[in-house]
Amino acid sequence: MHYDVRPGLPSAPAPLHAAPPAARAGSARARVLIVEDEALNRKLFRDLLRAGGYDVICAADGFEGLSAYQRHAPDLVLVDVQLPGIGGAELARTISADPGAPPVLAISAFAGPEDAARLREAGCADCLPKPVAIAEFAQRIGRALEGGRR
Ligand code: MN
Repeated sequence: MHYDVRPGLPSAPAPLHAAPPAARAGSARARVLIVEDEALNRKLFRDLLRAGGYDVICAADGFEGLSAYQRHAPDLVLVDVQLPGIGGAELARTISADPGAPPVLAISAFAGPEDAARLREAGCADCLPKPVAIAEFAQRIGRALEGGRR
């Protein structure tokens, strides 16, 4: 038997998420994780996405968001920038560094050009302004999902 042992080569990093979407049993609906600390916004995004036919998971802060990401392997992550615990940009950076990470969308009340550049640098595929216009929200979620995993 041949063992290919190459101690000099780093092994590929293990993915943070539990299972790739293909391994899921059941629905083919895209799964979206919402990380938002304001209950009313969380409910608004959840309702909009459910109405759009998505499976929705909600988290109320950065730590909960990271743990939900690891458990549910979402197809897209919507991250509020102002979050207690792990902030939105840091969460986006952590998730985006994961092999096969889904697109991460930031949502921010302060999404000026500098914020947007910072969030893209943190790995966000797009940055949505708050408050959201419903049609634009749906459009940009759809576009990010089409972009797919990296
Ligand atoms: Mn917030």
